[in-house]
Amino acid sequence: MSGYGRSNFTWNGTLRELQTSSPASCKERARPAMAASASSSGVEVLLSNLQNLGDIESTLNILNVLDELLSAGTDRRIHYMISKGGSEALLTAMVKSARSFNPNYTLLLPLLHLLAKVGYRDRRIGMKAQNADAVRLTLSLLRQNSKHPRRAAACLWVLQVYCSSVSTANLLGECRAIDVIYRLICPYTTKTLHTIKAAIDALAALLCTKANVHSAVSKGYVAGLLRLYEDWSSKDTEHVAIAIRCALLRCLHEVTNSTAGRHALVAHGGIGLLYEVTQTCLFTKGLESLVDPSVQLMRKCYPKSTLPLKSDLSVYCLELPRQPGSVPAPEPELNGEEDSEEEDDEEDDSNESEEADSKDYDDDLETDPDKLRSRPAPDRPPELLAQYSRLRPELTYEFQELDSSSSEPEDCSSSSSDEEVQSSAEDASRLKPSDFNSCPTFRTKGRDAREQREEEGAEEGAEEAQRRRTMVDTLAERHIGAGIPHHDRRLYRAAAVLAKSIPGFNILAFPDFWGHLPPPGNEPMPPRKPKVQRQKVFEDIQRLLNPDDVINEVVFDLEDPSPQCSSERSNSLKFFSKFESGNLRKATQVRRNEYDLILNADANCSQHTQWFYFEVSNMVANVPYRFNVINCEKTNSQFNYGMQPVLYSVREALEGRPHWKRTGTEICYYRNHFCAARGKKRSTFYTLTFTVTFRHNDDVCYLAYHYPYTYSALQSHLMVLHRSVDPSKVFFRQQVLCQTLSGNPCPLVTITACPATRGMRDLHQFRSRPCIVLTARVHPGESNASWVMKGTLEFLCSDDPVAQSLREAFVFKIIPMLNPDGVINGTHRCSLSGEDLNRQWCKPDPVLSPTIYHAKGFLYYLNSTGSTPLVFCDYHGHSRKKNVFLYGCSIKETLWQSGSDTGGLKEDPGYRTIPKTLDRLAPAFSFNSCNYQVEKSRSATARVVVWREIGVLRSYTMESTYNGCDQGIYKGLQTGTRELQDMGVKFCHSLLSVRRNVPSLYSSRRLVDHIDLDHNSHNCFEDDEPPCVEEIEYSTDGLSKLKGSDLDSDINGNTSSGDEQEEEEEVVVHKGFNPIRRCEGQSHQSSLRSRLFPHLIGHDLEVIEVLHMKRNSCNGVGITGRQYLS
Ligand SMILES: [Zn+2]
Repeated sequence: MSGYGRSNFTWNGTLRELQTSSPASCKERARPAMAASASSSGVEVLLSNLQNLGDIESTLNILNVLDELLSAGTDRRIHYMISKGGSEALLTAMVKSARSFNPNYTLLLPLLHLLAKVGYRDRRIGMKAQNADAVRLTLSLLRQNSKHPRRAAACLWVLQVYCSSVSTANLLGECRAIDVIYRLICPYTTKTLHTIKAAIDALAALLCTKANVHSAVSKGYVAGLLRLYEDWSSKDTEHVAIAIRCALLRCLHEVTNSTAGRHALVAHGGIGLLYEVTQTCLFTKGLESLVDPSVQLMRKCYPKSTLPLKSDLSVYCLELPRQPGSVPAPEPELNGEEDSEEEDDEEDDSNESEEADSKDYDDDLETDPDKLRSRPAPDRPPELLAQYSRLRPELTYEFQELDSSSSEPEDCSSSSSDEEVQSSAEDASRLKPSDFNSCPTFRTKGRDAREQREEEGAEEGAEEAQRRRTMVDTLAERHIGAGIPHHDRRLYRAAAVLAKSIPGFNILAFPDFWGHLPPPGNEPMPPRKPKVQRQKVFEDIQRLLNPDDVINEVVFDLEDPSPQCSSERSNSLKFFSKFESGNLRKATQVRRNEYDLILNADANCSQHTQWFYFEVSNMVANVPYRFNVINCEKTNSQFNYGMQPVLYSVREALEGRPHWKRTGTEICYYRNHFCAARGKKRSTFYTLTFTVTFRHNDDVCYLAYHYPYTYSALQSHLMVLHRSVDPSKVFFRQQVLCQTLSGNPCPLVTITACPATRGMRDLHQFRSRPCIVLTARVHPGESNASWVMKGTLEFLCSDDPVAQSLREAFVFKIIPMLNPDGVINGTHRCSLSGEDLNRQWCKPDPVLSPTIYHAKGFLYYLNSTGSTPLVFCDYHGHSRKKNVFLYGCSIKETLWQSGSDTGGLKEDPGYRTIPKTLDRLAPAFSFNSCNYQVEKSRSATARVVVWREIGVLRSYTMESTYNGCDQGIYKGLQTGTRELQDMGVKFCHSLLSVRRNVPSLYSSRRLVDHIDLDHNSHNCFEDDEPPCVEEIEYSTDGLSKLKGSDLDSDINGNTSSGDEQEEEEEVVVHKGFNPIRRCEGQSHQSSLRSRLFPHLIGHDLEVIEVLHMKRNSCNGVGITGRQYLS
């Protein structure tokens, strides 16, 4: 080892003494102790001798041996020593020697060093120091030695480690330690840097408590620390004191953990100062380590401002039945601002997308086998189930047309009498096109569409119609959905006229009307631009520093249409969102090409902002526009991991490229400084920022969170599908499950194969086919689920032989949109009652959650008639994960995962068949992300209730990413509608694997033992993603980079300096000073090892070997004594 030849053993005179002393005497001193208590470990013997504090020489020897032992190997040795009372022994020895009339620093200094090193790793060192009466004593040692840099540094390190206990830090605060230490931090100098750094570190450690922060702020230390930071930053031109500057930033971070501290920093120009200094650091090699802490500090102190809204409550409110005249009360008002310690992100679990990560997921597992196995009593009397017999038209249909040779589609559709929606929609399709405009340029202003329809009806004069004909109408007529499969613009418009929205939409968004084709080619996830968040935050900070540059003009407001008009001729972008599935509440021009966007909360509610869909126009081509969605709620987003929003250009569409495309650069997602407008339920918001460069001047474009899929798109799609099938082969019925809260019909589709003949056998086979129930879009913002469902529906209606055999094997009962109201009104999560419908399945309210109530009723009905579905699957979208995967239900896996006993439990493993098949068939599917555990927090979801209460063994949630895949052939690509639709096809394919009569959960008598349990399956309740490269948060201590364990190297620096005359010490900063560690991988051991004691190694090997034996037996560190010599 290189350190051998150097005399790096530093305390005064000792080295020489030890070297001259006989090696034999060293040996002898240690040996009797070893012999004396053969049962104790060597460490215990040494510690016991240390506390007895014999003569200086032997005590120093013990310290040497201990230091030697702890310097090599891993922290485990230190922890072993701590477990053997090492901290107490060192404290006792320190107290004893410090209390003597004339403390001997030859002894005290190494003692303090070792105490700091050991204490640094002892979580209870603070309490132990208090118990040993060492706290005040160390502080008074510091006071006595404030002129002795090296001694002061040693005391400061020890004080620093004491502060790991809050009560010890508070005790020190009461003893005015803050003032003592603060005075040791001097302006720029090249001397005694170790001591200054030790003082700053100790101050930062003291500021871990509220009381100490309060005290420091009230004494004006924030301004003082800022001045110090400015001074060191401006004068440290050689960048040799980076560690000091970093430590000062850490102090500033600690002291701004209170509101008062943050206010003080801002009031003393801290943000401007930090900004300026940081700008100079950006381009200087070596100063990079200062940038992130500074940026975090600026973000943290950036004054909070409320969202510029009158109320958080959604603009869209609907009077709910049973509560006449009332809307949900706004959340209770809380204090305007709280200390950041208290700013817990109170993310309601139910806010999360279905099955999103749950922090206490282990607690969340249902561990009661009885609860897992027992079947709750039905939530309604059996007589209420008869009404659902109408939803099995296939059982009563006579198929008379099979006798005749003709097969007219009308026969088929008209035969099932009740509530067919086609007729009314097709009537509506005969309305004049001008009833519903499709392009903003031609929109009808000021009148409600329905009002107009009532006035004008179908009787509108040709002249009037002609007058209002638009370019788009003409185009629409010229190519009715041309080139876009399964899309008919006339039907789309007809369906849209019937959709009931809270605001009474009378304008179509062009993309939904015109249709979408997936763009040719793949859309890879763009690599994240390095430091993009930092750059965006700088731009945000500039708003504060240069308020005159900020335009701050509202250019769109859902609640107040006037500002739009004022910007008609201005050079700002124009925004619009008052159309089906649209969501944008407010747009503010911040700077010339930058806009802050605020999303509308879910209807009748004040949260769940995530989905957006809006129109933007009046742009200039080839200019980058920055958009900031400033009221996002989730703590992280796939936008940090390669996801882009989607854009649709009307101009491009008219030129033959009707594509929603992934768009946007400089995308990132981070916590911002906004808080809720009124009421303080949520004090934290996140910004999604992205930049779009439009291709055309004066285009009309649409931006969305994900590929939109409206209720009208579904309705028109079902009509197209119905027309497309051969009614002699495919039995296709669209019925109404029920009306939604706002009176929109919720469709239920039946798809199966018509019987080959009317013969008894064929009809019997037809009527005894097992059911498969599929649902989707209970969460309106999960439009990906609709695209998957679109793929499923089209496939099941297709000529594909697999589809044919699936139709022959099963009856498909499909509810493709469980939350039409939410989809229409552009909500993200909830229904119009402000509730997450996928948490209502246990006891759905027939009035407030009608679609869930009747969907469950229908499932009860199937169950009661012996037709329990073979498979149930609810399609969802997942905002935090990549790929597509299933959640299922397994008692055994739940109990196994929670550590409960599964002995003797038998379970049909059939729930794994579909995921296993999908893993082989579907490239986007990830088997490893699947999970079959039943969590208490999900007990009211469709998947769990259908499994537990209806007894469907194969009951799933299918989650499709909004982003893309990180495995398989789609790896690195964002999903498009093509891939999503294909997933819907592949899901159908996988159903072939359950084609035979497989027993359902409760009818099964022959339960197969569970042999293929994959115990290594991933815990999918955690984020798939590694931590983002840049801190999304700043409140939770995002300063890990500042918390490097550089204490050891600091201490070693203090001891390895050759200069013994500390009073005259003049540290040569280039050599003696350890700049802050930038290399993460560097372990402290390497620096510790430079402190070996050659004089002991040669002669006291036996002692060391005894110690090794003991140590190896307790912690398994396999280092032999020989290695000390190598
Ligand atoms: Zn969902």
